[in-house]
Amino acid sequence: MGLGLYLHVPFCKARCSFCAFYLQIHREDRALAYLESLSREIRLHAEMDSLNGRPLDTVYFGGGTPTTLSSNELSSVLEQVRHCSELQKQAEVTLEAHPATVTKEGLRSLVHAGFNRISFGVQSMDDGELIRIGRRTPRHAAGIAVETARSAGFVNINLDLIYGLPGQTTESWRATLEETVALQPTHLSCYALTLEEGSKLHRDHRDGHSDEPDADLQNAMEDEAVRRLASAGFERYEISNYSRPGYACRHNQLYWCGEEYLGLGPSAQSYLNGCRFGNVDDLQAYHRSLESGDFPIQGREQLTPDQRRREAIVFGLRLIEGIDLGIVQDTTDRAWEQVLDRLMDQGLLEEQAGRVKMTERGRRFADSVAVELL
Ligand code: SF4
Repeated sequence: MGLGLYLHVPFCKARCSFCAFYLQIHREDRALAYLESLSREIRLHAEMDSLNGRPLDTVYFGGGTPTTLSSNELSSVLEQVRHCSELQKQAEVTLEAHPATVTKEGLRSLVHAGFNRISFGVQSMDDGELIRIGRRTPRHAAGIAVETARSAGFVNINLDLIYGLPGQTTESWRATLEETVALQPTHLSCYALTLEEGSKLHRDHRDGHSDEPDADLQNAMEDEAVRRLASAGFERYEISNYSRPGYACRHNQLYWCGEEYLGLGPSAQSYLNGCRFGNVDDLQAYHRSLESGDFPIQGREQLTPDQRRREAIVFGLRLIEGIDLGIVQDTTDRAWEQVLDRLMDQGLLEEQAGRVKMTERGRRFADSVAVELL
């Protein structure tokens, strides 16, 4: 069973209009206080042996924008993680980065510190679209960032894209895909825009200033991504994720395969020993808990065997290969069986060679399928 560590860095230079993550605008004093608390949290988990001495297969610095912290700060955190827990020799260590926040020297020192995967939030290769979602970085910054990362020693490079952005057309999405493929990343994540409550786009829509993303257009854009990325040698292994052979994201696979992870930092979520728990999504409350020597945890739920099985099915169905039929059949719950039968009859799920998968139609309605199954 794999084990991952997620570290949430809750800072960005500015907030993008589609984003509702917990974060604050980066300031030196905030970052220093956060690093002090994060260090306390790492030590506290080590003292309590939260990981039961198990080595980590993956470490993931996400956010926010982790690269708002300096490379020295990020390297020190990774160094402390190594000091307080064991990392597998081949551990995947990912850093999320904004294209405008990296330098060659900084990235070189991060490679030296042990980071071996970098994920850039690119979102679009169209300047007008970037401006409309509150990104001040011009499109060519993505290419410069990828070249900088590569020359600093990163081989495993992911780029995040979003389709269905305000004003985006099939043609501009096609152009974004072309320019992205030309950068030769090892991995691509393509997400359909959703209007998250708390985001500016959600408020604009609520106040009647903008439309919801057009579902038909987004479906056409998804089809375009599937076609173009397959022809460029990417394998779609999860609803929104595509990789070159051997470069599927090991950390995210832990989530989809029901494996365990510990989350550190404000708002980070954990799943350990069959228990789900999350940290407070408030930086001040996070500091206060750790200053008093307490875990900054709010909400803890021990999953029953039935909940664990349902979650394994819901998350596992996000994978294109689906899940083992045995997991689905292992139940005496008639109501649950009826839901599954109905989803099969509706052509949203299918059984193939001892596995249950979402059909192409099912992937379009993945969130509704998940709600029915949970
Ligand atoms: S999308 Fe990323 S860069 Fe933009 S505000 Fe959210 S976390 Fe920060």
